[in-house]
Amino acid sequence: MNDQWDVVVAGGGNAALVSAMAATDAGARVLLVERAPVVFRGGNSRHTRNVRCVHADADEFHTGAYPADELWSDLCGVGDGPSDEELAMLTVRESATVPAWMSARGARWQPALTGTLHLGRTNRFFLGGGKALINSYYRTASRLGITVAYDSSVEQLRFDGPRCTGLLIRSTGGERWVRAGAVVAASGGFEANIDWLRRYWGDAALNYHVRGPVYNDGTVLARLFAAGAARAGEERGFHAVAVDARSPRFDGGIATRLDSIPFGIVVNRDGRRFADEGEDIWPKRYATWGRNIAGQPGQIAFALWDAKVRGQFLPPMYGAFEAPDPQGLAKQLELDPVAIAETVAAYNAGVDRGPGGRFSMAERDGLATVGLEPPKSNWAQRLDTPPYYGVPMRPGITFTYLGVGVDEHARVRRADGGTFDNVYAAGEIMSGNILSTGYLAGFGMTIGTVWGRIAGRQAARHAHG
Ligand SMILES: Cc1cc2nc3c(=O)[nH]c(=O)nc-3n(C[C@H](O)[C@H](O)[C@H](O)COP(=O)(O)OP(=O)(O)OC[C@H]3O[C@@H](n4cnc5c(N)ncnc54)[C@H](O)[C@@H]3O)c2cc1C
Repeated sequence: MNDQWDVVVAGGGNAALVSAMAATDAGARVLLVERAPVVFRGGNSRHTRNVRCVHADADEFHTGAYPADELWSDLCGVGDGPSDEELAMLTVRESATVPAWMSARGARWQPALTGTLHLGRTNRFFLGGGKALINSYYRTASRLGITVAYDSSVEQLRFDGPRCTGLLIRSTGGERWVRAGAVVAASGGFEANIDWLRRYWGDAALNYHVRGPVYNDGTVLARLFAAGAARAGEERGFHAVAVDARSPRFDGGIATRLDSIPFGIVVNRDGRRFADEGEDIWPKRYATWGRNIAGQPGQIAFALWDAKVRGQFLPPMYGAFEAPDPQGLAKQLELDPVAIAETVAAYNAGVDRGPGGRFSMAERDGLATVGLEPPKSNWAQRLDTPPYYGVPMRPGITFTYLGVGVDEHARVRRADGGTFDNVYAAGEIMSGNILSTGYLAGFGMTIGTVWGRIAGRQAARHAHG
């Protein structure tokens, strides 16, 4: 490894690879520093399946057009809307050129998948998933002459005023300082840093699962804050879904997510319902359930359903507990059988008082409970057909929102009002500039690609003076 580079990129996921390729395209000599070993390279990005971009027409990969106005209004409709409207609008606009840019660097696509998230019109799916995309990008990076240091972590950043003068890289061979004309921070969020999460969530964080790798511990983010970087995004902001409680603590990926929730009911460890399982269509609500469960005692909950809906959603990867009656299921799940019997009876009574009609997951079917607290607003049908099924669930954190503030050139802003001279950021580490609290499926890869291109280009330009 040389000691002097035009651009050093911290990270090895989508945003880092895009930044590195864009900087190389602009003529820079680039070192990419990936903390993970080669087999686990690619961060959260290797777990992804799709990217959300503006497009004018249906084609072999999309079932219809997705105009910029619609993506903008979808973005405004999640959480508290965009944090910085100009940067968010820029992201929407630039997304239109993302698929062609990706294709030119090795991305391959597949026709939209069917499934519980119904994203065929708005999102484009990677053939072979994020792992295949990341592998293609690493091949392209190698062809472009980008140097990749695996098993290597950026541990420190040295500053002279607003200018980063060096990075301390720790690898299996020891530690060394390298210098760079410009630095791109693309090292993701801090979701794998349980101590950091505990600052905001207390001991509840000890029960969270982390869907991506152990490597995203926010070291670079913390160093940037220590050097005076401005903050963007909510401290307590994270995207979290319900995952199977039996899944690994880290890196379970997409397969551990549970999609059964709107098909039945959810109870806490006391056997009581605590949230509306049928509030809205699943693509809009699936990401509220991580937080719902995080708010329950012991950060655990249980999805229950019956034979009527078997086969209508992705099956749980470790199988479901099964019993001929709710009490038997309760025993298997180590819940109080009396509480479960009462909860199911109360729920069924609420369904009986409801409007009745045809159960349909294709839309909000209006089959709501009546006189039940909390209500189930749609897809409420009796739990009465054996066998009964259940699965324990934990909050599964996808990523955190708190990151560094950037300007329109992806340059990291300082809390004192200026910017760093030569430090740029892309991807999850700056997504708090775009997303405040909510999330749109597929937009994480959009942010990483749009801002990776900007950061890489600008970093190369800066390095060449
Ligand atoms: C299970 C799952 C499914 C998802 N599905 C989708 C989807 O289909 N579409 C979508 O748009 N988004 C999806 N997301 C979100 C998406 O993964 C992220 O928005 C996106 O990958 C972020 O890219 P990134 O490059 O910023 O971070 P990451 O891909 O997480 O990359 C961070 C990189 O930084 C490295 N790193 C960390 N610390 C250091 C350090 N100190 N020094 C050097 N390297 C370091 C890590 O090893 C890693 O390579 C999903 C996330 C998960 C967990």
